[in-house]
Amino acid sequence: MGIVRILLLALLIFGLVRVLQYFIRRVTGPASQSETMEGPELLQCIKCGTWIPKENSIIQEGEPYCSEQCSDLPKE
Ligand SMILES: [Zn+2]
Repeated sequence: MGIVRILLLALLIFGLVRVLQYFIRRVTGPASQSETMEGPELLQCIKCGTWIPKENSIIQEGEPYCSEQCSDLPKE
């Protein structure tokens, strides 16, 4: 009786872990893959020409800059 219950419970936990792993891979997989393969949307700093992820860029007057240093420099 006891052993059968333990086996069933172990099987159930094993199945749950597999299902969880599947969902975790589905959620994290494509995101991390696109980050390493193509990366997020890139913008080119209009000052020095460096390509930077959109989320790390500084937008001033609609123009992307790679850093505060670049955005602080006066336009030529
Ligand atoms: Zn720059």
